[in-house]
Amino acid sequence: MSTSTVTTDERTLWRRYFDFPLIWKMVIALVGGAAAGLAINVFDAQSWALPILDPLGRLFLNLLQMVVFPLIVTTLIAGITMVSPQRLGRIGMKVFVFYLVTSAFAITIGLLIALAISPGTGLGMPGDGEDGAEVPAISETLLNIVPANPFEALVDGNVLGIMFVAVLFGLALTFMLNSHEERVAGLALLLKRGVDGAVELVFRVIRGVLEYAPVGVFALIALVMAETGFEAIGPLLRLTGVVYGSILIQIIVYVVLLMLFRVGIAHFFAAAKDPMLTAFVTRSSNGTLPVSSRAAERMGVREGVYGFTLPLGATINMDGTAIYVGAATVFVANVAGVEPTIGQLATVVVVGVLASIGTAGVPGAGLIMLSMAVTSVGLPMAPVALVAGIDAILDMARTMCNVTGDLVATRVIAGTEEGMVRDPDESEPEPSAVMEEPSKETGT
Ligand code: ASP
Repeated sequence: MSTSTVTTDERTLWRRYFDFPLIWKMVIALVGGAAAGLAINVFDAQSWALPILDPLGRLFLNLLQMVVFPLIVTTLIAGITMVSPQRLGRIGMKVFVFYLVTSAFAITIGLLIALAISPGTGLGMPGDGEDGAEVPAISETLLNIVPANPFEALVDGNVLGIMFVAVLFGLALTFMLNSHEERVAGLALLLKRGVDGAVELVFRVIRGVLEYAPVGVFALIALVMAETGFEAIGPLLRLTGVVYGSILIQIIVYVVLLMLFRVGIAHFFAAAKDPMLTAFVTRSSNGTLPVSSRAAERMGVREGVYGFTLPLGATINMDGTAIYVGAATVFVANVAGVEPTIGQLATVVVVGVLASIGTAGVPGAGLIMLSMAVTSVGLPMAPVALVAGIDAILDMARTMCNVTGDLVATRVIAGTEEGMVRDPDESEPEPSAVMEEPSKETGT
């Protein structure tokens, strides 16, 4: 190759890297990093390898933390404004409460099972001992939720405080959007567009950060393996077991809920299996939305309910992700050698539930939520990278759980509203008829 073609070659190399699916890059990074780390361990090559791997790994952690606050502020405000009081009504209120309660329940299951099993015990991250911040008392944590100075909260990494400010501003914006005063509503629309634009911007930055993730994962897994050798594999397998086991329990809870509300289980899952499978392979609740809507239709739910509850659920209801955040936070605490306090656990529940409101149903979003939870309780970030290595495997199950949760809520709530579930002998409407409904409402 002549030197004149070097730039073209470089460009093709970049293009090839970006075009290669992220999930495979992560798998290669995980396996490659583990193999490299084991080789370093076996050949005692730590002295020259660690100074190279360490900055590469730290860069990934810094990038993850860098996007946490912009993400919380923008997506939480945007998420809150999605639920406008006028569109909400009774169904909206019910589904909102249902989503919050099931998510809080899910994160508690994840926490409890992980606490019982301690998946991360026996694993240590190099040089992270001094990273853990002082844990404040419960009263202090509660008071900190209302920060006197939002900028100080940003600088201090006070996640709950920032979330509170974002929720407050989101609510105020929602009321402005629904104001009868034209001027106020117009200004609110402008602000809302700005926030939506900012969300898009943040997601683009995150996409960029995730492109670096394979390098970071490679370096961090290699670092751990180089220090601990084969011992690291067990804890990661245990974490996977805890997350999958907890998700199974959550599915059983859904079955009980469906039974309580007299919904036929076989009928429900016959329709739900398609979106469940789609969610498992695509790792995106948002992407699964068309399949979930079709499933709700097959369950007999009217579009008036699922047309609102499913898109809302894809954005704000993430039971599987909540389980993952709970379990992985305990894993991080185990690796850091920290015994989580009741106050810290309560904070993880609140942050996990609020973070799920803000985070969109796209692949890997849970990893950012985990970073938020870990930061909020003052745990070191280094072990998060270990979780990042197996994130794709965990993402599959948690997305499937997220989508199932949305469908359970949709079916249960539709059943509590008169006329919102078709009779079994009533035939499914043709797709065209479904499309026509809104136009009838608008009188066109
Ligand atoms: N991938 C998940 C979803 O789309 C979110 C997550 O990363 O947990 O629901």
